[in-house]
Amino acid sequence: MWGRPASLATVPGRDSSLAGYRAKRDFTKTPEPAGEAEASGEPFQRFVVQRHRARRLHYDLRLEMGGVLASWAVPKGPTLDPRERRAAFHVEDHPVEYLHFEGVIPKGEYGGGDVTVWDEGLWAPAREREPSSPEEAVRQGELHFDVAGHKLRGRFALVRTGVDAGGKERWLLLKKRDRYAVEGWSPEDHPRSVLSGRTNDEVKADPERLWLSSRPVGQAEVYLKRST
Ligand code: MN
Repeated sequence: MWGRPASLATVPGRDSSLAGYRAKRDFTKTPEPAGEAEASGEPFQRFVVQRHRARRLHYDLRLEMGGVLASWAVPKGPTLDPRERRAAFHVEDHPVEYLHFEGVIPKGEYGGGDVTVWDEGLWAPAREREPSSPEEAVRQGELHFDVAGHKLRGRFALVRTGVDAGGKERWLLLKKRDRYAVEGWSPEDHPRSVLSGRTNDEVKADPERLWLSSRPVGQAEVYLKRST
């Protein structure tokens, strides 16, 4: 349903990986991307943490892997405090086109609310401790990884702790002790978007960008405030 650059190859067998994401969204109404799985072929992969005020505030940690964004919803947000154990819920993969989405999702839509890019950067698995691939580590329920973001730095671990009756996976997000660890550090003390410098309130009151899902990916992002 989406046009995309011919140089980006579709990964065989990954076509259904975004089925859950698509099923929960009506892309004729929601300004979010409906992407195709893509192969990045890059040695480093991207990550983003979006601060998302939906029915409840949470932070969405998304790690690019296998051509999609593997995603966890973290109600209290990631922290640099190694003493904290943050609950994280493994949610459906998101398309890579969603990586830097910052704006408003209309009320009544899945995830309706406002979204800011709270942090972004590069990540890599801590390879000496990983299975064959990060996707396999996620399947096995334990991923150790390093991040280089604006706010988040150093090594983290995601560990699956259980699966509820509805199939929802409960995980913990942990900051490992390293030189980037800061006891007492709270994400709520660092609320501004790393893209725009704005808070969720400021984005909600006056969104700068929309994503129009009826358009091809390359034309979907619309700047409301300035010409580009
Ligand atoms: Mn969310």
